[in-house]
Amino acid sequence: MTEYVLGRECEEPFVIPQSATAVSRQHARVTIDDNKNWTLEDLGSPNGTFIRGDNGQLVRVSRVSITPDTFIVLGGENVKGCSFYARHLLTPKNYTEDFYHIRDIKENFEKRLNRQEKKAKYIKWGTTGLSAIALIGSMFFTDPAGTILFLRLSSLVTVITGLAYDPINARKKIKEQETLFMQCPNPACHNTLSANDVKNLHCPRCKAQ
Ligand SMILES: [Zn+2]
Repeated sequence: MTEYVLGRECEEPFVIPQSATAVSRQHARVTIDDNKNWTLEDLGSPNGTFIRGDNGQLVRVSRVSITPDTFIVLGGENVKGCSFYARHLLTPKNYTEDFYHIRDIKENFEKRLNRQEKKAKYIKWGTTGLSAIALIGSMFFTDPAGTILFLRLSSLVTVITGLAYDPINARKKIKEQETLFMQCPNPACHNTLSANDVKNLHCPRCKAQ
């Protein structure tokens, strides 16, 4: 079993800067047991230990099973805290694996965006098609009541899809969630990486790569 106690006064494999004042002297512990099961445990720190959830938001934890891919935040996600991927404990000298992981996350978000754009296109054509059918249907009625009914149906289809599905907002939400994951893997950096930084596997602020 391997154990890492993390904090400003601990001997974790990488240095937590003294400026990270939200990190306690002994803040959290990561253990890797002989079966390669990882556990993260908060050591009663006042500012808390967090992991990034699937939706990108931070979740405060006291004791939780993690994987090498887990993004850990000690003390909060700002300059006073410190954040890193769990696997960085094993490779404190380089960030290559972390950058590959971030690149995979970005690729998944791009796939999601593509799917969402396809969906938007289908919905747009579906709505237009249904409205057109209702409109054409209305032309075959000599009875005004029937004509009105079909015209109403046509408008209703447009209004309902307009209210239920907003492609611009759906796209914006995916992009916002993606940004939450695009954090530099260097514990002390806190830079948000651009698409180019991720592609180049490099952080321009702290020079991590
Ligand atoms: Zn950086």
